[in-house]
Amino acid sequence: MELKLTTKEFLEALRQDKLLGLRCRACGAVHTPPAAICPECDSLDMDIVELSGRGKIRTYTVIWTAPEGFQPPYIVSLVELDEGPWLMGNILGVDPNTADMSLIGRRVKLGHRVLPGDRYSAGEKVAITFATED
Ligand SMILES: [Zn+2]
Repeated sequence: MELKLTTKEFLEALRQDKLLGLRCRACGAVHTPPAAICPECDSLDMDIVELSGRGKIRTYTVIWTAPEGFQPPYIVSLVELDEGPWLMGNILGVDPNTADMSLIGRRVKLGHRVLPGDRYSAGEKVAITFATED
């Protein structure tokens, strides 16, 4: 099966702080990160769209015990994008030691961070980040 939008293409765009997704021609659903089929209706008929990268924090957690290569504490959040999909990413610019429920609903904008490779990966990685806008 040929993918409409590959993970490699998604990550290359992310390196330029561009968020790509797919819009289903059958049902209109927008989703990201890319999937082979529409998660709403299983259609294969989708168009690549550029999303705003803006949304609201819906939930988050503070990571105190991190995997190798990561420096705790840090915040991992699920953000509801303005176009609908929910996307996971690190929240930057907020002190994890003082994070509280006032983070829920805060407006954020997408960015990215390049992480060095580790012994589990094939080289450097690109991670989704969000910074608060308000
Ligand atoms: Zn669909």
